[in-house]
Amino acid sequence: ASGYTLLRDPRHNKGLAFTDKERDAHYLTGLLPPALFSQDLQEKRLMNILREYKVPLQRYIAMMDLQERNEKLFYKLLIDNVEELLPVVYTPTVGEACQKYGSIFRRPQGLYISLQEKGKILEVLKNWPEKSIQVIVVTDGERILGLGDLGCQGMGIPVGKLSLYTALGGVRPSACLPITIDVGTNNKKLLEDEFYIGLKQNRATGQEYYELLEEFMSAVKQNYGEKVLIQFEDFANHNAFELLAKYRTTHLVFNDDIQGTASVVLSGLVSALKLIGGTLADHTFLFLGAGEAGTGIAELIALEISKKTNAPLEETRKKIWLVDSKGLIVSSRKESLQHFKKPWAHDHEPIKELLAAVKAIKPTVLIGTSGVGQTFTKEVVEAMASMNEKPLILALSNPTSQSECTAEEAYTWSEGRAIFASGSPFDPVEYNGKVFVPGQANNAYIFPGFGLGLIMSGTIRVHDDMLLAASEALAAQVTEENYAKGLIYPPFTNIRKISAHIAAKVAAKSYELGLASRLPRPEDLVKYAESCMYTPIYGKYR
Ligand code: NAP
Ligand code: MN
Repeated sequence: ASGYTLLRDPRHNKGLAFTDKERDAHYLTGLLPPALFSQDLQEKRLMNILREYKVPLQRYIAMMDLQERNEKLFYKLLIDNVEELLPVVYTPTVGEACQKYGSIFRRPQGLYISLQEKGKILEVLKNWPEKSIQVIVVTDGERILGLGDLGCQGMGIPVGKLSLYTALGGVRPSACLPITIDVGTNNKKLLEDEFYIGLKQNRATGQEYYELLEEFMSAVKQNYGEKVLIQFEDFANHNAFELLAKYRTTHLVFNDDIQGTASVVLSGLVSALKLIGGTLADHTFLFLGAGEAGTGIAELIALEISKKTNAPLEETRKKIWLVDSKGLIVSSRKESLQHFKKPWAHDHEPIKELLAAVKAIKPTVLIGTSGVGQTFTKEVVEAMASMNEKPLILALSNPTSQSECTAEEAYTWSEGRAIFASGSPFDPVEYNGKVFVPGQANNAYIFPGFGLGLIMSGTIRVHDDMLLAASEALAAQVTEENYAKGLIYPPFTNIRKISAHIAAKVAAKSYELGLASRLPRPEDLVKYAESCMYTPIYGKYR
């Protein structure tokens, strides 16, 4: 190929890092200025440029440009500066990018499958240039982060999640495929926007919707086989639960909003036991919010307790209570409940308000997953603190403005006794001369390592025990030093090592369950995971 083409191929381009020999051999002479930069110098230069941009969206656009120009350099930046750049390529900035996708859209970064492709989805998949795909992240754009229906502009989410699969979990970029399924949007503003990139119609629902998804799921299996991981992302909860239930027995599917969230939060609970004492079975849990996140977490807690105590699930669920928009979920409401809430309808008189529910249920752990901010009021936190020596309070709603309470409020209102973690990051807080570092229950701790574990073992189905294995692997990475600061999650700086450990435990569970097809089983799974991981270091060209 010509040197000119090489410079425009993001997978192989090295820019000023091409050596003189390479420039000679690949017809690059004269196409580049004389200077030779090392990859480290290129990284330094780009980080300087990025830090000049004060508007987060500008940083996002600069990162996307880099990804399209020089993929290895993009991943090197992301890996080496993970704490700084995660909020740029992923939440919260990716949310803004999706909202403005119409105006920042330059080149398509994934595959678009709309209602117009009905009957031809297999052909569409074949248009994608890479043939050996290991992970697909797919959205229908109906519930993007906490931002609602963004239709076709939800593409930023699969793109962002897959770049984390590569940076944090070491999955090869060429094996990752972002997909947006466009069945229309109910977002009026987008429908009226002349720059909207999607289908201008209201969302297809019911049979029309499920037929398109059925065609998609079978085309994926036909084209990529049994071992491709399909991650559902940011579907509205009515479809999310149904699709997961429908395809978990026939495909390798994973829903990060339900299962990934559950696994990362369970991990935080397990590690928090070191600080608050007891076993999981000794605690009482109260959730505000009974959707994908809330019921997913609740179910995994119940499962873990059931595994540990040999008690049936119906029993272990009884110490877990959920409040939705209508109040405490109780058995007298059972008839009118959505099916995913039914297991949580315990016997109790109806209660409308969270504060009254806290006083009646007396939880030791309070978890917010409603998407509504400022709901853990001073009275609620004080009630938790009056009943518990160390109340565990998780304010998981995103973005920051929707957090149930701030870190500072949790520590202040509990007089420094709360163990606190949140969905969106908060800065450390000083209270009474002590510095508290709040943890972030970020799904990015789990899904990249989880996916790597499935891929490297050739797993064909996800089993809940693998989620439990991932939770325990993550909790095991929290050090005494972390605990001393009140942290229940390890720092992100070591994420590739953490992912390798999670991958190893997930793969081990898969072999144990007979769901892994890569045989023989590698002896040392951590080493094997590390050896599978993509590194962004430039290769040499002969
Ligand atoms: P979802 O499926 O839409 O569920 C929301 C739930 O909250 C529903 O049960 C809803 O009640 C309830 N709710 C809404 N307003 C309420 C109110 N004022 N009082 C009490 N309950 C109320 O959403 P989701 O996917 O579970 O996500 C919920 C939140 O969790 C989002 O903010 C998301 O960002 C966050 N989240 C965080 C993480 C993380 O930290 N790693 C992961 C995933 C999600 P009804 O059922 O009655 O409508
Ligand atoms: Mn999501």
